[in-house]
This record gives sequence, C-alpha cells and structure tokens, in this order.
Amino acid sequence: MDDFDDALNPPDPPDALRIPEPPVVLTRPGHPIRRADIDPDALRIMTRLQRMGFIAYLCGGAVRDLMLRRTPKDFDVATDARPGQIRKRFANVFIIGRRFRLAHVHFPGGKIVEVATFRRDPDPAPAADVDPDPHAIYGTPREDAFRRDITINALFYDPAIDAVIDYVGGLEDMRRRRVRTIGDPGVRFTEDPVRLWRVLRHAARLGFDIEPATAGAIHSHGPLLASAAGSRLYEEFNKDLGAETRPVFEALRANGLLRHFLGKAGLDYETDPALFARVVSLLDVEERARKDGFLLSLDEIYALVFWPWLEPLFEEGGEDMAPVLGAAFQNAEMKMTIPKALRANVIQILVLMDGLIQALRSGHPRAALLHRSHLPQATRLLFLIEKGRPPADDETFESLFKAAHPEAPLEAQIRRRRRRRRRRKGGGDPGGTTPAGA
Ligand code: ATP
Ligand code: MG
Repeated sequence: MDDFDDALNPPDPPDALRIPEPPVVLTRPGHPIRRADIDPDALRIMTRLQRMGFIAYLCGGAVRDLMLRRTPKDFDVATDARPGQIRKRFANVFIIGRRFRLAHVHFPGGKIVEVATFRRDPDPAPAADVDPDPHAIYGTPREDAFRRDITINALFYDPAIDAVIDYVGGLEDMRRRRVRTIGDPGVRFTEDPVRLWRVLRHAARLGFDIEPATAGAIHSHGPLLASAAGSRLYEEFNKDLGAETRPVFEALRANGLLRHFLGKAGLDYETDPALFARVVSLLDVEERARKDGFLLSLDEIYALVFWPWLEPLFEEGGEDMAPVLGAAFQNAEMKMTIPKALRANVIQILVLMDGLIQALRSGHPRAALLHRSHLPQATRLLFLIEKGRPPADDETFESLFKAAHPEAPLEAQIRRRRRRRRRRKGGGDPGGTTPAGA
C-alpha cells in the first residue's frame, strides 16, 4: 500500500538530480556578460575556432566572475578542437601537460590564453577489453561541464550567440548564491580531495552559502585532504596567497582543514585563537599593501604566513636559529610540499628579521646584519609586521634604527661592536666584559 502511495506521489528529486537536459541557454538580457568585458585575445581565439567549424566557449572562473560582475583573473577557452589541431592553426602555441594536454596560446607581454579540449571524467577502471584509445579523455561540452568541481564553475559562454550555457544547474545556484559540488559530494571529494578546499575557497571569496549536502560532506570527508598530492596542495595554497587570503584561511580553519596540509603549523593555527588572530591580521596587512601596489614575493608571503607560528621559538632564544626553524618544519609533518629552496629562503628571511627586531629593541646591532643577501626582504617584512605597512621608498632598516635610537647611529654602533669583538678575539677580553664604548 505504501509503495502504491509513493508511486502516486513521488517525492521531489534531491537537488543533485535536478539536472537540466538539454542545457539551459540564457541569452541577453538574462545575463550581464558583455563582449567588451572579455579579454580581446580570448575572444579572437574563440571567434577563429568557431569560423573553422569548432565549438569554442569561454569557461570556468571567467564565466562565473563575469556573471557576478567581478573581474576574472584569466580567460580560459574550452573547445572541441584537439591540442594538435590548435597548434596547427594558431601561432605561438605551446602544448603543456602530459595526461591532459592543454594548448597555451602566447601573446606579446607574457599573456597566455589557455585553450583546453573538452574532456570527461576519466573512467575509474577502464575495462581490459576496451580499446585503450588515447583520446578517451576527451569529451563533449556536457561531459566537460560534469567533470568540473562545482556548478558555478561549470558554465560556458558562447560569444557567437551571446549566451550562457548551463548543463549542471549552475545558474540556479548562482541565483541562490550557493556553492554545490556537481554530483554526489562524497564521491567527488573522494575522487579528488582538493575539491574540499576549492568549495570553501569559492564560497568564502564570493560570500556564498555552501549547499547543505556539500557542507555535510566537507565535515565528514575533511581528513581526505591529507591524502592529496603534496605538490597539488602547494599549488592550491599559492592560489589563496595573494588573493583574498583571509576569508579562505578562516573557512579552512573553521572546517578543521588547515591541519591536513600544514601539519602541526595548521593544528596550532586551528587550536590557538591568538596565534590565528595574529596570522590573519598579517594577511590583512599584506592585502592592504597589495591593493596599494606593493607586491610581496612568494618567499616573503610564506615568511609572513609562518612567522606567528615560529615566533615563540625565537623567544626561547638560541644563537643559531636556522637549524631550529628547519627542525620545526621537519617535525610539523606538513602534507603540503614546500619546495626546499623556498623553505630555506623563508628560514633565512625570518632569522634575519628576528635579528633586525632584536637590534631595534636593544640598540645593539650585530655587525653581520647589514651584509646578508636577504636584507631587503627581511626589512620589508619588518615594516609590515612592526609598523603594519610597507616601507616608503626612502625607508630602510637604517632609517628605522635611527628613529628608534637617535642617540646611536647604526654604523657607529656596528663599528663599535666590531672593534670590541676584534679585541676579544685578540685575547684581551675573553669574558666579553668590556663595557660598551670602552
Ligand atoms: P580562480 O578565479 O581562482 O582562477 P577558477 O574557477 O578559474 O578560479 P582554477 O583553479 O583556475 O579556478 O580552475 C579552472 C576551472 O577548472 C575551474 O573553474 C573548474 O571548472 C575546473 N577545476 C579546477 N580544479 C578542479 C578540480 N579539482 N576538479 C574539477 N574541476 C576543477
Ligand atoms: Mg582560473
């Protein structure tokens, strides 16, 4: 009897099953995208491909951002032309990637437009008797939309008909201001745990809600993030550094994900509110500086991210801090791979910056301080951390020192310390008890 009733009154399908078929095609004035908003080189590539008989759409983040009247970071093109066909028909094309080959079309000034062939989700386990077609990765526009991470990232824009094409319900989610994985969130997170991070990123950046099933799966699948490849975690982190870092960092912390890629550093940031408050306030300083046109290098940004975490070690003291910091990174068991050279630079910058801070506080600089190659970076960070702003063009460590110790010019202090040390080395004063200035 129950079965019979159910058949008469079928429940509403879950949201994930309300998939438009065929796609929703939204023309103007239903959408706000104007051709003038699109990068002219990307537009030219699409127009040429279409004239040659290919499908060519603007895709991914660009369509999402244009729909929301935000400025896209880059303009990616999706097409049914294969990478080889693109290379033959355009100048300055570089094919990159091994499994997913992408065409990069280079333009003067260093601009690159990425042109990717529509592809589909790889078969989890291709049957042995199936022809191992190397092109099995390519797909239709529909398949390409479905292999993407979240619905609002899977819209296409077709410049020929000036329309947004939606296979996955992304327009509806945009209207409802929510982030939803395409398909079952548990399945999609298990396929690629980096998507956990991406959901939080896009929701945090746009101020969107996370659809309940997606949010629930983030909660239950969080630890999977630690199983992603270290290099991909590093890539994702770099996307957040230098672009609305604070809201994403806060969302990662609120969902307990920091520990899954930053190891002990992430755990400390999650469990110590004061420590976390400090790092996000530094990220704010960085963001303000960036908006004023002051760009930090990757080394400097990483140094800023790890400074609050490592600062207590400096307070414990020690002559040679570089190995202490090295050991802290080693023992933190971060899943994210930080390239060795980057880590080494971060350590050098922070050790030097601490030296500068000590010199400022004590008025007694160490002679070697001003001859280290990382002095410019350490000084920039010092201003950001101590003053909450970048240095002006004419501001240096010397000027900072002079302001703090007008009575004791830096060079004179250094000369005095050098003399004292030489005297000590000469055996005159092994205990180092010579009074300053003697
Ligand atoms: P941003 O503005 O940060 O560049 P984006 O959406 O363009 O945002 P990208 O990392 O540049 O993000 O990725 C481009 C597109 O590729 C995304 O919009 C999405 O459609 C797809 N994509 C990226 N990463 C994944 C993933 N892990 N799984 C599925 N699709 C993905
Ligand atoms: Mg992008």
